[in-house]
Amino acid sequence: MARSIRATSLLLIALGVAAPGLPATAAAATSGGAAPGSEATTTTPTSAGSVGGAAPGATPAQRATSAGVGGALPGHKPKRRKVVRRKAVARPKARKPATQKPVTPQPPQVGTVAGVFPVQGPFTFGGEGARFGAGRPGHIHQGQDVVAASGTPLVAPVAGTVTWKANQPGGAGIYLVVRGAGSGEVRDYVFMHLLRGSVLVAPGETVRAGQQIAQVGATGDASGPHLHFEIWVGGWYARGGAPIDPLPQLQRWAGLS
Ligand SMILES: [Zn+2]
Repeated sequence: MARSIRATSLLLIALGVAAPGLPATAAAATSGGAAPGSEATTTTPTSAGSVGGAAPGATPAQRATSAGVGGALPGHKPKRRKVVRRKAVARPKARKPATQKPVTPQPPQVGTVAGVFPVQGPFTFGGEGARFGAGRPGHIHQGQDVVAASGTPLVAPVAGTVTWKANQPGGAGIYLVVRGAGSGEVRDYVFMHLLRGSVLVAPGETVRAGQQIAQVGATGDASGPHLHFEIWVGGWYARGGAPIDPLPQLQRWAGLS
């Protein structure tokens, strides 16, 4: 009987030593306080002995007790492995915020142009949720929201040509796309949630900077009246085209920068 107990505790100790998931205290107990990361590594050998509990005078019963903790390892091992997997999963998660990285570097890369602020009335840029790159159910906010009263006049910020007018009831609502007339790269300006019946221009028409094109509304998926404004460099949903953070440009037009 005594023999089998001894054999069992030896087996448990062996398991405890070999198990990677051994709790730090148990590992210290079986390895003499040399567990990596434990305080024993930074303290003197004397205190390590007391911290680790592996004092030379430890009885087999005490060892068996600490090994008994290790004996529960079959249940601990998978947990430790899961932790490792979580770390691996956490890396891509950590990259998710990096999708907002283009927000910061893009303004200096793209630059801003002279023009007129598109909302001709009192406005605010809203909070973080109104920003380019803010999270939305199923997608990322591709523009800047400018909150203003329904009916506030909207003007073309630069001279250009109206290239698109449409109605997307579940999303953009009534919206317009104006292509800037600049001779450089293609730059499209998108105006969404327009007030029903307020659109004054049609595709193919040229507009001058400051010319009214519509009014602020809340058509489509909008919780209240506001202009959802996008700037696309390289063409709106065109091959190679991409939206940029419109806030620096809006701030310039508003005289805030
Ligand atoms: Zn928006």
